[in-house]
Amino acid sequence: MSTISDEDLLAYADELLNLVTASTIEAKLRKDSSLRERLQALLDGRDSGSISIGEVWRHGRISCPSRSEMGLYLMNALEAERLDYLAFHLESVGCAYCQATLEELKTAAESLELNAQDTQRRERLFASSAGFLQARSASE
Ligand SMILES: [Zn+2]
Repeated sequence: MSTISDEDLLAYADELLNLVTASTIEAKLRKDSSLRERLQALLDGRDSGSISIGEVWRHGRISCPSRSEMGLYLMNALEAERLDYLAFHLESVGCAYCQATLEELKTAAESLELNAQDTQRRERLFASSAGFLQARSASE
């Protein structure tokens, strides 16, 4: 008998679990051939498209925050309670699925910021050369 859920098994297969949980499951898998069969069946089912890992996580034991919530988390705009939850989810649970999303959002935010700086620089440049041209034409 085993207390490992399908979600745990799939998360283990995708290396989404923290080290402690993963090694517990690994030890059980090594001893228990029926558990190995279950994992294999789950993976087969997923490969054929019947389960997606995102679905498993969202509807499973661990509730992943939404993408927009993670955006707020990045901007430090969450209320304290949710902030705690997200920090716990990302750091203590170590959900790799959400960590990946967070990284992606960070990269996107950084490139947005760079673009904004660029636009400002261009606008300043334009304003100063427009001023230069005006000053020149006024003196002519
Ligand atoms: Zn998550």
